[in-house]
Amino acid sequence: MLPVVALVGRPNVGKSTLFNVLTRSRDALVADLPGVTRDRHYGVCRSGARPFVVVDTGGLTGEEQGLDALTAQQVRLAIAESSVAVLVVDARDGLLPQDRAILDELRRSGKPVVLAVNKIDGIDEHAALAEFAAFGVAATLPLAAAHARGVDALLAAVLPLL
Ligand code: GDP
Ligand code: MG
Repeated sequence: MLPVVALVGRPNVGKSTLFNVLTRSRDALVADLPGVTRDRHYGVCRSGARPFVVVDTGGLTGEEQGLDALTAQQVRLAIAESSVAVLVVDARDGLLPQDRAILDELRRSGKPVVLAVNKIDGIDEHAALAEFAAFGVAATLPLAAAHARGVDALLAAVLPLL
């Protein structure tokens, strides 16, 4: 069985875009509307030294009622079945309380976490990374999923954790 990597984060940070890059597919629904991915979505990444399953999840919003509660449950199932979680955050939004809440949830799971600071295209990468350094995640990496930038470094961080 292939190891599993879960993509986790608030809505609209670029999880589905990253999923598409990793799986080289257009399977995941990428939308400008936040919260469009309501259930888990699986693909296989074969870009690294070793293949693994990627799970795209709906975003955790912190407003876990109704549909969002179902999404949050799906996210927790994805975390539970994964070997590594990639927490995707939005460099343009900066460090938000919801990001921290999701990180706390991941830490409770005990799974290794890689922090992907996405959308660094066109902004000051060093400033963005410095802000997210406050999270204290050893593997904190810049990413521009929409431009497939930083993906090799992300793979290099994830693969040894599998
Ligand atoms: P999800 O809700 O976390 O799955 O986010 P999506 O992958 O659906 O992306 C949300 C929006 O962010 C879309 O409009 C994407 O085109 C945009 N986006 C994703 N990655 C990047 C990136 O690296 N740079 C920029 N500028 N926009 C991005
Ligand atoms: Mg999505």
